[in-house]
Amino acid sequence: MVEYDVIIVGAGSIGVPTALATAESGLKTLVIDSLPSVAQGDNKHAIGGIRATHSLKSKIWLCQRSIDIFASWKELYGDDIWWEQGGYCFLAFTTEHEQMLKTSVRQQKEYGLNIDYLDAEKIKELVPGINDDNLLGGTYSPEDGNSSPLLALHAFYRKSKEFGAEYNFNEKVIAITIQNKNVTGVKTNKAEYKTQTVINATGAHAIDIGNMINIDLPVVPESHEAGITEPVKKFFSTMIIDIKPAIDKTFGNSKNYYFYQNKEGKILFCLTPEPKIPGLNRFETSSFLPQITKRMVNLLPRLKNIKIRRTWRGLYPMTPDGNPIIGKIDDIDGYINAVGMCGQGFMLGPGLGELLSRVIIEKLSSKDLQMLGELAYGRDYYKIEDLK
Ligand SMILES: Cc1cc2nc3c(=O)[nH]c(=O)nc-3n(C[C@H](O)[C@H](O)[C@H](O)COP(=O)(O)OP(=O)(O)OC[C@H]3O[C@@H](n4cnc5c(N)ncnc54)[C@H](O)[C@@H]3O)c2cc1C
Repeated sequence: MVEYDVIIVGAGSIGVPTALATAESGLKTLVIDSLPSVAQGDNKHAIGGIRATHSLKSKIWLCQRSIDIFASWKELYGDDIWWEQGGYCFLAFTTEHEQMLKTSVRQQKEYGLNIDYLDAEKIKELVPGINDDNLLGGTYSPEDGNSSPLLALHAFYRKSKEFGAEYNFNEKVIAITIQNKNVTGVKTNKAEYKTQTVINATGAHAIDIGNMINIDLPVVPESHEAGITEPVKKFFSTMIIDIKPAIDKTFGNSKNYYFYQNKEGKILFCLTPEPKIPGLNRFETSSFLPQITKRMVNLLPRLKNIKIRRTWRGLYPMTPDGNPIIGKIDDIDGYINAVGMCGQGFMLGPGLGELLSRVIIEKLSSKDLQMLGELAYGRDYYKIEDLK
């Protein structure tokens, strides 16, 4: 039976950059995915937003490292993954949101982030044509950006293979074998493999892998829909996040929505429905498009003549506090969680992959230990992420 230093279950936003990091550090790495090729889970549903502007220190640090990796990829390895450093802008239309954002900015500055709270006039310069009715201001973090989830994952995939990572597609993990509380291997619907380390990077299906070793992972898949327009001449660079909830008797209520214009000039957009839609259904709803287009055109009236090319629905693997669950667990040696990425798996992937590799080779810095503490499976889940 073939033996690996690490087997990663899931070739998605997390599994692929993790394989890149483990293979680069010399670990014999196998990635197994039930789908036919790389990034076919929820990675391809992500719209490509990448930010370090979170409220939890560990996510800030992980995403700062991710940004370094996305930003330097083309120069280092030559592939254009459509990285653009356009920034992120969270808008405030109520004093409650203004206060919340100002508090986050103070904290984020303490963690070394380049971010400021801008007044409405400055926001109007950043987003030409924005409807300023009740606009109080917003945050702006110029170092955040965006990249193509498919181009990036394929670039990470190719590079990880050059470092020696192996991939088995169309193969489903059905069991993790354990002896005396130690991982000994992985069984799939096709074969059996020996390993002392398994990483669960199965996104919306994380619970199933948890069940195989009798741990109850608090990860619930929730539906989110997105879309893309035809290309138009570039007229704004930042990701715009409108956190004001909307009550809409005709099409349904929603929480926040966000959008940006990509390198090709196409506008990508995504909405958080209210109430949440839990479950694994990926069929599109008829309410998403009328909800989001009404909100976007109201905020930025010049969008009204742009044609929409395509919409899709995917899943956020949500946790109770909006933060991922990372690292080893007490009961079983050799099992590692990399689950519950919520709406941020693509941006967390590269930084997290390197952290997971350091977990395996046991080269953890004090900063790593702090991150693993904050994101541990056994935490209280009471410190809710403000900027989910
Ligand atoms: C509409 C939308 C917009 C989004 N926008 C963004 C964004 O702008 N920025 C951002 O950072 N994130 C965004 N996200 C979130 C992001 O897509 C997810 O957080 C991320 O894809 C989760 O990564 P993952 O690796 O955990 O899961 P996935 O990428 O889904 O990968 C999991 C893989 O595990 C495989 N798998 C599952 N079970 C098994 C098994 N038993 N055996 C073998 N293989 C298995 C699956 O086939 C899948 O390929 C968005 C999500 C949606 C739906």
